[in-house]
Amino acid sequence: MRFGRWVGRLAVGLVLSGLVFMATAMAFSVLPANAANGPAEPRGQAPREQASRGDEAPRSGQSLHYTDHAAPAATRRVISLYVDRDFSDAERERIALAVRQWNVALNGFIQFRLGLLAPNPQPQLLAQIRRSGGWVLARIDSRHPVARQAEVRQAMAMTIGSSAGGGIVYVISDRFGLSDLNGVVLHELGHVLGAGHDDSASGHLMASVYKAGNGHCIDQGAVAMVANAQRLPLSRLNWCVGPGLQANAR
Ligand SMILES: [Zn+2]
Repeated sequence: MRFGRWVGRLAVGLVLSGLVFMATAMAFSVLPANAANGPAEPRGQAPREQASRGDEAPRSGQSLHYTDHAAPAATRRVISLYVDRDFSDAERERIALAVRQWNVALNGFIQFRLGLLAPNPQPQLLAQIRRSGGWVLARIDSRHPVARQAEVRQAMAMTIGSSAGGGIVYVISDRFGLSDLNGVVLHELGHVLGAGHDDSASGHLMASVYKAGNGHCIDQGAVAMVANAQRLPLSRLNWCVGPGLQANAR
């Protein structure tokens, strides 16, 4: 895992700066995996993603869907997201689905643009991406130094960076299965956009502890946190509505 080595070397610096800046503007967010190893959550209508616009028209009988508010005339801001080549094709599909969902939610005010990270990226490249406001989605496993830190030992993923700049999302790939990857990436991209955790009753995607089946679409609470962080008008963004989701969060 050559990439892992490079990321590991970079990570030391990122973690340190993350800790240093934690009190100011740096996001330092961990998604614990408690529920991933526990018994399956009883769930009625299992929330399943679908971005329901454009090329992804909602199918009949689909219970969850996104709102469709008027978009601005032109995309206002693009965030580049470079995906580690260590992700399999199936994993990349889940990642791309999460990105499409956020792009629906962000409604053109911000747009994620997916790219593939160069093979065997050098630390200079990763630093350059970060400086230019881009993000890297890195696939690591439990042996990686980042995953072995005390506060990350139960985590499925970790995001280090600034919502005003760039950073890196570590996906700890051996701590959950493919079916949870979409939900995990949706959650971490929420952090990338500046959202924190919401453990209130209306907390859904951004609950601090992941529950299988409870994080596969972007609820209004998550969008509201992003709108606040990015100073965007909530009423012009989109979010997931349907059974089990509160439509009143504000
Ligand atoms: Zn989190």
